[in-house]
Amino acid sequence: MNKNNVLDYLNSIEEVVNDINLKIWSNPEVSGNEEYSANLYRSALEENGFKIVNTPNMEHAFYGEFGSGYPVIAVLGEFDALPGLSQNVDVKFNPTTKNGPGHACGHNLLGAAPFGAALAIKKYLEESKLSGTIRYYGCPEEETLVGKVKMIKAGAFQGCDLALSWHPMTVNSPINKAFLSLNSLKFRFKGISAHAAQSPESGRSALDAVELMNVGANYLREHIIDKARIHYTITNAGGAPNIIPSDAESWYYIRAPHRSDVEEITERLINIAKGAALMTDTQMEMEVLGGCYEYLPNDVLFKLTEDNMSQVQLPEFSVEEKEYALSLQQTIDKKLVNLERRKYLSGEKEDTVIFEGVLSKEEAFNVDVSGSSDSGDVSWIMPMNLFLTASWPLGVANHSWQATSSAGSTVGTKSMMYAARIFTGMMYDILNNHSLVEEAKSEFRVRTEKNKYVSPLK
Ligand SMILES: [Zn+2]
Repeated sequence: MNKNNVLDYLNSIEEVVNDINLKIWSNPEVSGNEEYSANLYRSALEENGFKIVNTPNMEHAFYGEFGSGYPVIAVLGEFDALPGLSQNVDVKFNPTTKNGPGHACGHNLLGAAPFGAALAIKKYLEESKLSGTIRYYGCPEEETLVGKVKMIKAGAFQGCDLALSWHPMTVNSPINKAFLSLNSLKFRFKGISAHAAQSPESGRSALDAVELMNVGANYLREHIIDKARIHYTITNAGGAPNIIPSDAESWYYIRAPHRSDVEEITERLINIAKGAALMTDTQMEMEVLGGCYEYLPNDVLFKLTEDNMSQVQLPEFSVEEKEYALSLQQTIDKKLVNLERRKYLSGEKEDTVIFEGVLSKEEAFNVDVSGSSDSGDVSWIMPMNLFLTASWPLGVANHSWQATSSAGSTVGTKSMMYAARIFTGMMYDILNNHSLVEEAKSEFRVRTEKNKYVSPLK
């Protein structure tokens, strides 16, 4: 089998790959509840001769392994959905289940593409008798940003040489800058309740502490780097107004492009919380819910991704698919659509509905995926690539009903098969050229020499 034969084989099993994709899309499960999805992958992998290894103390985390010997390639699959984003494959808001969950981040596609590639590479390993091991990682709880952080802590990735990953989005692009590092913390204040009119002097308001902390945090914004983000909600603000709240709680996310910035800002925020407690004569207790790293790029894997993105067959959308995409795009404010067109297409191709082609290296360097993901953490324990494919029309944001719609449509399926071809092409190249692994690993060692991974989970 040469590379094209392996890619042809992958195309020939599209039905198998799409079957699992659509089953996951139709049975959306939110973070932590991925029982159906994880078991579907476990049994599909087992049926195909993969050995299942479950991650200790994590019900829905596992990997399926095939082959033997060096190199050990990890492909990362996810399958969790988002609450409240249920939607049919429709061009108007039309949930399958009112307020139900939906695959608005396309993790149905995200999990199925590397699954398809794993099956294709399994076939190749059998026929070629080459040395090499493929591991399909079933990674739960991505949307709550803790799954892979816990898996790393449990040692689930031990023995891997490198990891391959992707995400559905609005463009086809290799990525070298992505994910803001993050800390998630809760601050609980304890005061003294009292009658708010009769004896306010006896009370100490925990809500005052929460509010003063928020004021402090808002002043802090002016004295941190531009790219940092601080968001909060008040998760407990007390009960009736005539009772001075003895308990109140806020929940903070701190994000920045580098882990060290997040750690520094977190320390300053903790001081603000302590100050709020001091001002209000209350007690402060803090809970670290989790955190994750930014993506650590790897030039060797970037190049390999870039090459394969333009070498393998790109998706071709039918007239009907383009019409569907246009109708979906028309539900988005035109200004937002144009903003995104300008961002990626340098003012050209003003009528682009679905992105076709691949961004050039220069354009790709400007793409900044500025959410957070626990995939970032994996890139700090071994070399990892990242790429995007156009799974929904330009202007459609991840975590929207339009994205759920597109993720369940044939537009989504085509972008998924494109991603599967990229994974397959990359693995074929790696299995035939081990120096790629060694080069990626030596670059990784240089990048992490003075900056080792420390789990954000205490
Ligand atoms: Zn996602």
